[in-house]
Amino acid sequence: MKRIIIMFSLFLLITGVSTSASAKVCALTINGSDQIKYDKNILRINLNSCTKVTLTLNHTGKLAKQIMGHNWVLTETKHYKVLTIAALKAGPDKNYIPDDRSHILAHTKMLGGGENDTVEIDLSKLKKGGKYTYFCSFPGHASLMKGSLVIE
Ligand code: ZN
Repeated sequence: MKRIIIMFSLFLLITGVSTSASAKVCALTINGSDQIKYDKNILRINLNSCTKVTLTLNHTGKLAKQIMGHNWVLTETKHYKVLTIAALKAGPDKNYIPDDRSHILAHTKMLGGGENDTVEIDLSKLKKGGKYTYFCSFPGHASLMKGSLVIE
């Protein structure tokens, strides 16, 4: 009986180890500053090596959310323009995120200086070779705070 228990524990140990080895969390980081800039205009996700992807936005500035708010909104590039307009219409009460989120693949909270937020990106929504744009939806920021997400 003892031997069976030991064998079973060993089995759990081995399967447990192999499960965690095949799950790879890829953590992306991007910073937004008081100069209305992200520190990266391109981000990459390799679907072969990441089973889960998180993105962390750090607001490295000092200004308040009401005057220098930053978020990170991901969309298909073809929906970028429509989405920036919808975000403006949503206004400050909704943190410039429209109620209709059908074009939003992922987004962080709107942050003020010194704050940060992390979101998980749903990989099932992304295709290799697809065209994706991320931007800050605060009024006037999208043209300066914009980049491409490349899926490899
Ligand atoms: Zn911003």
